[in-house]
Amino acid sequence: MKLPSLNVQILLGAALGVALGLYFHALGAEHQLVQGGVYTASLIGTLFIDLLKMILIPLVFCSIAVGIANLRQHQQMHSVWLTTLIFFISSMAIAIVLALLAGNYFKPGAGLHLAMFDHAMQNFQAKQLPLPEFFAQFLHGLFVNPFTALSQGNVLAVVCFALILGITLVVGGDRYKGILALLQEGLAITMQIVGWIMRLAPLGIAALLLQLVAIQDVAMLSTLAKFVAVVVGTTLLHGVVILPLILYLFTGRTPIWFWQGAREALMTAFATSSSSATLPVTLRCTTQHLHVKPEIAGFVIPLGATINMDGTALYEAAAALFIANLAGIELSMVQQLIVFFTAMIAAMGAPGIPSAGMVTMVMVLQSVGLPAEAIAILLPIDRLLDTLRTTVNVEGDMVGSLVVQKFIAQKEAATLHLS
Ligand code: ASP
Repeated sequence: MKLPSLNVQILLGAALGVALGLYFHALGAEHQLVQGGVYTASLIGTLFIDLLKMILIPLVFCSIAVGIANLRQHQQMHSVWLTTLIFFISSMAIAIVLALLAGNYFKPGAGLHLAMFDHAMQNFQAKQLPLPEFFAQFLHGLFVNPFTALSQGNVLAVVCFALILGITLVVGGDRYKGILALLQEGLAITMQIVGWIMRLAPLGIAALLLQLVAIQDVAMLSTLAKFVAVVVGTTLLHGVVILPLILYLFTGRTPIWFWQGAREALMTAFATSSSSATLPVTLRCTTQHLHVKPEIAGFVIPLGATINMDGTALYEAAAALFIANLAGIELSMVQQLIVFFTAMIAAMGAPGIPSAGMVTMVMVLQSVGLPAEAIAILLPIDRLLDTLRTTVNVEGDMVGSLVVQKFIAQKEAATLHLS
């Protein structure tokens, strides 16, 4: 019997996971079947994430170094850099503006009071994270002994070292062609392994979603319903309207075409809540299904997975306004501008792991004098909201690589035309 395609299997897996999760939720956490089921699901889900994480570091290392080295001409390298950064910053800026507009309009949290959540905040200690210290820490984390970074799975530091290595390969030209060939082979091998890991994706995604739905705290969700609705609504608006519109305007590609090529990565992001764990899948979809050249995808995607987070930026800004409302504080225009900038820095600095945005959010709150302890209120529902924002984070990276590719192609055509 012929199995359905991987995409269909993943969709079926997701549906099955959610359905079983709902059933287990209805049975209640004490039920023996639920305990056994959730335990098995956690084993399978963790195994899937572990496999992705296993391949992540060798993949990022090879793909960035090879990507940079392949953008041989300096001119091209410069344009890719610049276009990528401009895209990342602009798309995050749009996401934050959306959150601020929606927050000011709907005012989630108005009518509730921080005091109502005293119990939740009692045992919570927010780690101090003032902006200058956060910035210093971020810079300090960029350049690390490559062997330490590789062995500790420090994605940002590996990205930085691989960038430098790639530039060295370009500058050295023929002299280092052996090393370049080795890295190219390394990239091919790691992508092959990703292909095998993806066969487990339907099961892994089913297990992760089952676990998520079965143990969700619904009580807190209904208290915070308005905030959840604003966050989910704006995140969806960004992911379903704004990003596809940017894609269409810049490349002429339709949302359906994009969804068909990107769904493996989007669903993995949804289930794992980790852009880093999803990175191998994102790279595979971008190069194999969306046909972005490996040298562009190899640069834009790993960098995007660590610093381009539209969903996280949007969430950080929305949550800051929400907590201000709870505390009964009206944020001035200047304070909202500070939220805008700190939300962007906090999103860039958040590693692509589950709930990372919650940790860096402390900095956003402190920048405008809001009580950082208030994030304790959001923690119980974070795993659920993280699914959608991680999906939009990953979508932003993929759209970015397509826009950058188009832009570079146009620039090259213009140069050819002139010469
Ligand atoms: N989980 C998100 C990601 O990996 C980061 C966050 O917590 O916002 O992209």
